[in-house]
Amino acid sequence: MLTLSDDHREVQALAREFAAGEIAPRAAEWNATHHVPMDLLRRLGELGLLTPSVPEQYGGPGLDATSLCLVVEELARADAGTAVAVAVQNGLVAAPLLRAGTEAQKQEWLPHLATGQVFGCYALTEPDAGSDTAALRTRAVAADDGWRISGAKQWISNGGFAEVFVVFARTGGEGAKGVSAFITGPGPGLEVGPEIPKLGLHTSSTVGLSFDQLHVGPDAMLGAEGEGLKLALATLDGGRITVAAQACGIAQAALDLAVRYATDREAFGGPIARFQGVQFPVADVAAQLDAARLLTLHAAALRDAGKPHGAAGAKAKLFASSVAVKAADVAVQTLGGYGYSAEYDAERLYRDAKITELYEGTSQIQRIVIARDLFGDAAR
Ligand SMILES: Cc1cc2nc3c(=O)[nH]c(=O)nc-3n(C[C@H](O)[C@H](O)[C@H](O)COP(=O)(O)OP(=O)(O)OC[C@H]3O[C@@H](n4cnc5c(N)ncnc54)[C@H](O)[C@@H]3O)c2cc1C
Repeated sequence: MLTLSDDHREVQALAREFAAGEIAPRAAEWNATHHVPMDLLRRLGELGLLTPSVPEQYGGPGLDATSLCLVVEELARADAGTAVAVAVQNGLVAAPLLRAGTEAQKQEWLPHLATGQVFGCYALTEPDAGSDTAALRTRAVAADDGWRISGAKQWISNGGFAEVFVVFARTGGEGAKGVSAFITGPGPGLEVGPEIPKLGLHTSSTVGLSFDQLHVGPDAMLGAEGEGLKLALATLDGGRITVAAQACGIAQAALDLAVRYATDREAFGGPIARFQGVQFPVADVAAQLDAARLLTLHAAALRDAGKPHGAAGAKAKLFASSVAVKAADVAVQTLGGYGYSAEYDAERLYRDAKITELYEGTSQIQRIVIARDLFGDAAR
């Protein structure tokens, strides 16, 4: 995929204009105060940018995965935390609903998610089960015409303001086949923990959830019993492409800043941009970012074509996240001492970039996904 269609360019321009006008000027302040911009997230819903992939029949704009990537990249270029809210709402909540939900579940949740009337979260990770998802211990026991869910979830993005919870819990024995997925609103027995202090992403809510016999009805199960982990991992196949897009946005912001600053900053009688020692790292980042974006859009195009995209998404996330970390480092170095100061965006980009190598599968896990695609059963 070498060129974008006119429709893609249109949605990219809309997101770029919104991000530049409404997010970028306030991002530093929001980050400094750890402010989650709820009004802005609702406005993204009004514009159809909160869940680009939700079909029109459920209240969304019905765009493709490529459009979602373009939106997430533009938002992340202005503020990585805002991009997370969209990536979760669309990629981790609406996507599994669209994939495995009954018609009644779709009708119940999607129109509210699409317009930003409610926000959702995806609760897979537990204190003792991160990369090893099949080790999760949250349990759902059949009871009272439905299920009672008990256990703990950790690191849940959007969790502090979510009213829709996609929860993965054990309904059977040990291992992957004992896990089922549920979708539920809040209720007695579900407690949302305090915000978890973290290195970056300060405009994104991240909390733990604890479940103590939360009752959900029989219609809360998402997909078939025992198929929950399959749904969780299929969801992450798509979600990783969006994380790659987020990484491209962070890298682009770092590149823009480095170029701007090096052009203006003078040392030894002229702009520092004339020194190859300043130019070359920035040039390397520009080349790597082009490659990261192509990998990302390639994975999205495969998804749009209905083709397998698990390994392509893992490659895109693995590479793009490393480019984001590198680009942010180059930006800090290019700005010298000012790169270390909160007065400039370089230090925020430096802190935000790292998360793209961690969530929705660490870089090691992406390598495992790619290796299994290459080696098949021999890699297991
Ligand atoms: C800010 C933030 C937001 C998040 N949002 C969500 C969310 O919304 N929903 C959700 O469910 N989760 C979320 N997560 C969780 C995230 O996906 C996990 O943290 C991540 O998958 C890693 O799991 P872990 O932290 O338990 O690390 P571990 O699995 O304990 O890994 C620790 C280290 O060991 C390595 N490792 C583990 N297994 C292997 C292996 N087989 N081979 C090689 N190396 C290995 C890892 O790569 C890592 O370096 C979020 C995390 C953060 C930090």
